[in-house]
Amino acid sequence: MPANPWIPHPMASDPNCIFCKIAAGTIPSRKVYEDEEILGFHDIAPWAPVHFLLIPKEHIPSLADVLPRHEALLGRMMALAPRLALEQGCEPYPEGGFRLVVNTGAHGGQEVHHLHLHVMGGPRPWAKG
Ligand code: 5GP
Ligand code: ZN
Repeated sequence: MPANPWIPHPMASDPNCIFCKIAAGTIPSRKVYEDEEILGFHDIAPWAPVHFLLIPKEHIPSLADVLPRHEALLGRMMALAPRLALEQGCEPYPEGGFRLVVNTGAHGGQEVHHLHLHVMGGPRPWAKG
């Protein structure tokens, strides 16, 4: 039987996951945004003058694990990116702008297995990308 979408789903968490620990506040981060479902924080090893990550607080291992019930959450994460990019110093579109990246799996270059959206911007050249 399909899951009843009206019954609240317990928020998944993995005790060994570094981004779950950041979401819980047990590992510190430089936050750029927080609400009930989403956290934004600066990448510890930035590739670009502006480089922060947006994560769901729920432990979703990768984009390959996204379920229909996550669609609104993913939409909110993506829709937040332009506003936060400007707040963090990216110049406005179209002269400025930013790049969104979601590395997925080994071939996609994913190192941390908790879904995250890289938001990168600022003047080039960048260290990578
Ligand atoms: P991935 O390769 O999985 O797409 O990217 C993982 C990103 O997480 C990398 O850019 C890496 O620098 C960042 N990262 C890994 N550990 C930490 C951490 O403890 N704190 C922060 N702020 N970023 C991290
Ligand atoms: Zn996690």
